[in-house]
Amino acid sequence: MSLLTLNNIEVVYDSVFLAVKGVSIEVPDGGLVALLGANGAGKSTILKVISGLLKPERGLVTRGQVRFAGEDILALDPPERVRRGLVHVLEGRRVFEHLTPEENLLAATSMHRDRARIRQLVDEMFSLFPRLAERNKAKAGYLSGGEQQMLAIARALMTQPKLILLDEPSLGLAPFLVDEIFDTIRRINAESGTAVLLVEQNAVAALDVAQSAYLIEQGRIVMSGTAEVLKSNPDIQQAYLGGS
Ligand code: ATP
Repeated sequence: MSLLTLNNIEVVYDSVFLAVKGVSIEVPDGGLVALLGANGAGKSTILKVISGLLKPERGLVTRGQVRFAGEDILALDPPERVRRGLVHVLEGRRVFEHLTPEENLLAATSMHRDRARIRQLVDEMFSLFPRLAERNKAKAGYLSGGEQQMLAIARALMTQPKLILLDEPSLGLAPFLVDEIFDTIRRINAESGTAVLLVEQNAVAALDVAQSAYLIEQGRIVMSGTAEVLKSNPDIQQAYLGGS
């Protein structure tokens, strides 16, 4: 069954610039879907439409529907969408730099009152990301880029989402950390059944973990299908996988 459906979404920035041109996307329940494309193609904008973070004074959804778990959510504000199980990890590892990893995780728990449950969730995050447990004495500002990215993902998972939106989690990371991040994304999806919509410029790594993918160019979906089919497509190989 489809968990998230975008139908014919159009976004206009500053009243003039058509950044997203009739985009339709589906994320199945428990699926891992990649949204690929070059810089400026419209990927982050689409994630903001889904989580509700598009600033109305800059950008507007001028057409289309967003359905999540059977409900039309376009009129809901971002916290209401989080409560329904939809969470967005923005590009650029935004953590609270002056707080420890654990304090960062606790900052995401205002919706839980049950202290034992909160403790259990923090422990789950530390077992999913052992590196964060090891670094728990340090303020998050002193963590490496990869550790901060993991913390940003862990903080989002504290809300126990049905769907997590990840914007360029591998950006700026050393290659061995890129592998680790993608492995973690695969585990989050496989072990807890959390659906993932993954925005990436790193098409090779994204197509290795995703089940299906969409390719966006200049605000339009130009190709979609299973990860296998996209990986073997000659145009994709040429433009995004470094030829072969
Ligand atoms: P990137 O990987 O660089 O984030 P992207 O595929 O996520 O690229 P978007 O950030 O969605 O692309 O941007 C799509 C287009 O919309 C770009 O041309 C960008 O310049 C423009 N745009 C993005 N945000 C705004 C904004 N707040 N106001 C005006 N134009 C914007």
